Amino acid sequence: MTHTLPKIEYAYDALEPYIDARTMEIHHTKHHQTYVDKLNAALKGHERLQDMPVEQVLRNLNEVPEDIRTVVRNHGGGHANHSFFWPTLKKGVEVGGPVHDAIKKHFGSFDAFKDQFSNAAALLFGSGWAWLTVERGNLEIVTTPNQDSPVSQGKVPILGIDVWEHAYYLKYQSRRPEYVSAFFNVINWDKVNEHFKAAMQ
Ligand code: MN
Repeated sequence: MTHTLPKIEYAYDALEPYIDARTMEIHHTKHHQTYVDKLNAALKGHERLQDMPVEQVLRNLNEVPEDIRTVVRNHGGGHANHSFFWPTLKKGVEVGGPVHDAIKKHFGSFDAFKDQFSNAAALLFGSGWAWLTVERGNLEIVTTPNQDSPVSQGKVPILGIDVWEHAYYLKYQSRRPEYVSAFFNVINWDKVNEHFKAAMQ
C-alpha cells in the first residue's frame, strides 16, 4: 500500500476570506503532497509499516526502524496532520453539540477556551500545531513542534490549527494572531463533534 493525497471535499476558495484560495491550493497540492511522497519513499521495503494506517505507525514510533524514524515522524506526521485538518474546516458552522458542552464545562466558557487555544497557537515558537485533544476522557490544549502528531503522545486530536508559515503567510505575512483569529470562522464543529464522540467511546 502506498499513501495518497486525500481529496479536499470543497473548493480551494470555499474558506475565503479567512483562508485564501491560493494558500489552500499550494498547501494541499505542494506541501501535503510532499509529505505523502517522502513518507512513501521512506517506507519503501518496509511492508509491515506500509500496510498500517499512518496513525498506527505514529502511535508506535519506537517500532519504526531507527534509520527511517525521523523521516517517518516528520512526513508521516505531516500526512496525518493535514489529512485530519482539511475536513475540520468549513465556513459558517456554529459551535454546538456535545463538544460545546464539554468545552464550557472544562474551560469555564467558550471564550475562555478560545483565548487559551488562540494563545497556544499564537505563542508557539517556530513551526507546529496547536490542538484540542482528548486523553482518557479529558479535554486538553496541547502544542506539537514541526509535524509531530498528538497521537504519538497517546492523545486523540479533535481540532487542530496548522501554524506553519506556509498555512498563512501569503495572506497574513507575519501576523499569525490574525490568522488564528480568522481560523475560528472556519471551524467545522460538526466534524469536531464527530471526533469528540469517537474519542469519548
Ligand atoms: Mn501545513
